[in-house]
Amino acid sequence: MSRLVCPRCALPERTCLCAEVNAQACPLPVVVLQHPQEARHAKSTVPLLQLALPGLQRIVAERMPPLPAPAQGRWWLLYPGENAADVDSQPGIRTDIGGLIVLDGTWRKTRLLRYLNPWLNTLPQLSFSRAPAGRYLMRKGPGGQNLSTLESVAHVLNALAPDFEPAHLHHLLACRVAQFRSYQTD
Ligand SMILES: [Zn+2]
Repeated sequence: MSRLVCPRCALPERTCLCAEVNAQACPLPVVVLQHPQEARHAKSTVPLLQLALPGLQRIVAERMPPLPAPAQGRWWLLYPGENAADVDSQPGIRTDIGGLIVLDGTWRKTRLLRYLNPWLNTLPQLSFSRAPAGRYLMRKGPGGQNLSTLESVAHVLNALAPDFEPAHLHHLLACRVAQFRSYQTD
C-alpha cells in the first residue's frame, strides 16, 4: 500500500479527494472548535469541510480565549437548545449573524467544551429543524441529530446564504463514505 501523502490535503494518496473538491468561499466566517480527541478521529468530517471551504477556521483545543468580534454582527453558537433560534423558521435572524462557531466532538465532549469555555454560553444560539436526515452515519454531529458536522454546516450555510452550494460538500462526504466501505470489503 502506498505511504505517499498528498501535499495538498495531507491525506495518504490512496484516500486523497483533491480531484473531487469543488471549493467555495464561506458566506460568513465559520470557526470549528474541535475537541483534541475528535481531531484524531479517522471519521471526522471536519477535514472534508476544510477542503470544501478553505476559508473555514479550525481550532483544536479544550480551552480557547474568546474570539475577536467578526467584521459585522455577532458570533453565534451552532447548538440546539430551548433558547436557540431556529434558522429554518426564523429567516429574519440572519442579518445579525456575523459568524458561526461550531463545536465538533461527541455530545459529551461538546458539553465539556461549553463548560471549559464559559464565554461560549454568552453567545446567541442557533439551531435548525428542517435539515434532511443524515445520509452518512459516520459520526453524530453537533446538532444532536444523526447529522455529521459537515452536513450540519452545509445545511445552516445554505439556509443563511441562498447562493451557497451544499451539494459540493455532500459530494465529498459521499466519496469518503465510499472509501470506508471499500476498505471494509478489502
Ligand atoms: Zn489530496
